[in-house]
Amino acid sequence: MGIDRRKFLTIAGLTAAAAIGKKTLGDSLTADTRELLPKDESLVGKRWAMIFDIKKCLHKDGCTVCMDACHQIHNVPDFGNKKDEVKWIWKEPFEHALPDNESPYLEEEFKDKPVIVMCNHCDNPPCVRVCPTQATWKREDGIVMMDMHRCIGCRYCVAGCPYGSRSFNWRDPRPFIKNENPEYPTRERGVVEKCDFCAERLAFGLQPRCVEVCPEKALKFGDLEDPESEVRQILHDNFAIRRKPGLGTNPQVYYLV
Ligand code: SF4
Repeated sequence: MGIDRRKFLTIAGLTAAAAIGKKTLGDSLTADTRELLPKDESLVGKRWAMIFDIKKCLHKDGCTVCMDACHQIHNVPDFGNKKDEVKWIWKEPFEHALPDNESPYLEEEFKDKPVIVMCNHCDNPPCVRVCPTQATWKREDGIVMMDMHRCIGCRYCVAGCPYGSRSFNWRDPRPFIKNENPEYPTRERGVVEKCDFCAERLAFGLQPRCVEVCPEKALKFGDLEDPESEVRQILHDNFAIRRKPGLGTNPQVYYLV
């Protein structure tokens, strides 16, 4: 792996600290670790959320640009079969992804159409509640994180997530990574992984990779607690639905229909 574990965990820890506003943390750090602190341009939010515009996404038939880009930078393995599949962002038919929408006409319009899905970074995440080692936790800014080094592979979180957003590495993923990104750690057999809203990129002022690469600009990411943010404006002006809202998880991924 191109970035060692200690360095990655330091960045992750510092990122979390920055997100909760511990601005004085840098004062007590060595020059080496200060170098790893999120730069001034880091994106800081109080409640990160993602919006998918389904119609825009469907413009380009069969497009997989966001999925390919996400999986490439995060070293997600491609085992070439469904049984072992590891995924951070993928497609589901509309009626599977959003089964609780109230309108039969929506179903008619989008039936069998592929909808992008990912971890919903739920406000009330059952995956976090069931993890016995705190390997997964929710940051103050709403991102549900995963520390693969603390994961003992019990898969309680996989069972607890009602969206299928978590994947388990049944096999050693490393031989199945195409174009390994040396800037991001690889995982081992026996751990769970999932989307992290590109927390490592936010720390350096970058949008999530899927948002950045989408040719149709169908994805928007931002801070819902900021009344001036684009995501807040979009949700104010448009009708949006979420995945299985009746479960009480309060997902923070929204779909424009
Ligand atoms: Fe956890 Fe699943 Fe919600 Fe993501 S979508 S926060 S994995 S319960």
